Amino acid sequence: MANHDDLTKLPNRRYYKKQVTAILEQTRQGIHRGKVAIMYLDLDRFKLVNDTLGHSNGDLLLKQVADRLKGCLESDEIVARMGGDEFMFLLPDVSDEQHIKQRVEKILDLFRTPFNMNGYEFHITASIGIAIYPNDGWDIETLMVHADTAMYRAKHLGKNQYIVYSSNMRTKSHEKIVMETSLRKALENGELKLFYQPQVDIKTGEIKGVEALIRWQHPVMGLVPPHRFIPLAEETGLIIQLDQWVLRTACQQNKQWQERGLPPMRVGVNLSSQQFSREHLVDTVKEVLEEVGLHPRYLELEITETMTMDVEHTIPTLKGLHDLGVQISIDDFGTGYSSLNYLKKFSIDRLKIDQSFVRDITTDSNDSDIVGTIIAMAHNMGLEVIAEGVEQKDQLRFLQIQKCNEVQGYYFSEPMTAEEMEANFEQLQRHIKDKY
Ligand SMILES: [Mg+2]
Repeated sequence: MANHDDLTKLPNRRYYKKQVTAILEQTRQGIHRGKVAIMYLDLDRFKLVNDTLGHSNGDLLLKQVADRLKGCLESDEIVARMGGDEFMFLLPDVSDEQHIKQRVEKILDLFRTPFNMNGYEFHITASIGIAIYPNDGWDIETLMVHADTAMYRAKHLGKNQYIVYSSNMRTKSHEKIVMETSLRKALENGELKLFYQPQVDIKTGEIKGVEALIRWQHPVMGLVPPHRFIPLAEETGLIIQLDQWVLRTACQQNKQWQERGLPPMRVGVNLSSQQFSREHLVDTVKEVLEEVGLHPRYLELEITETMTMDVEHTIPTLKGLHDLGVQISIDDFGTGYSSLNYLKKFSIDRLKIDQSFVRDITTDSNDSDIVGTIIAMAHNMGLEVIAEGVEQKDQLRFLQIQKCNEVQGYYFSEPMTAEEMEANFEQLQRHIKDKY
């Protein structure tokens, strides 16, 4: 199933990108004469279907939509499911805009006939954004972003229509444009900073690691919280640069601490899904470690459950990282959907229990059951467990009884700058042990 989507049997994102890359290359070489069109189709108000009719009906609808889309393809065209209710078309070798127009109108026509769901007739429409090679971009990333922009424009203008990308499209709000520009500058001007939060051995109280957390100190806006700039960075692709910066800085910092006599410890770095799905991730990590001179065992990469859904990518990537000697943890564990069967096949070291469970472990028996079960399961699988968001002594006690391995949270220490960490390390270590 590496190339196909389980639900609809359509090609998946991975296959689609491979095909587009190949077609663009062939077109550049002159094997195809025409242009290449990338179409981004998103169902209108699909969330409403899921919310009102339930997910199983939502899935049923997606399957029917997929069948119709597949049924209207011409010989060399491709339609893929990118996830959720998003589909993408590849139209290689199109002669002109008129040709594209005919094709897209045909696609929108498919939605005129109602869908039949368990005896009920149901109407749904779609919005489509189109980007054309070479007019709107030369590489797949640019084309996909532009098709996406055009699709949002179509939604914005009332849905159930298609829009061809144009360079003067101003879909972004003013604030977003300002933020994007400032974020680019922030990277250059050193406005981004890493803070480090200790991770503590639950038995001894020793600091075993720190998690690197990004902060943006803007000269005018002040401290910008991550939730205001990380999604934007993901949307604009800046996240890749951001991630690289975090990885390098955290490794450099950790090496420096070791050179200055701090006890060796892990530094945890959060990976974005874009970074994790990159082909050369293992090489990148290896390069950074070699360049900085940090032993791989002192780096821990944190990924989330949702990032592991592409199993064909996840298994070899995690194995590659593991073979390097890097440690891996699954962050926010319990909030996504993990297949326990796959979890066994992933080369991971640690589960991080999400703070939403830890918060109420002493008051909510559901949460305490969940946490207890995760810890027992992880130990059976030979994994360690760290609990995030520990803020009270009672929570620590509970986690001790459950034999959780490590803890992290405000009860011990808030995130601090590298300088603070270095200057006060012994004091901090003593303070943490006193908290037991
Ligand atoms: Mg994390």
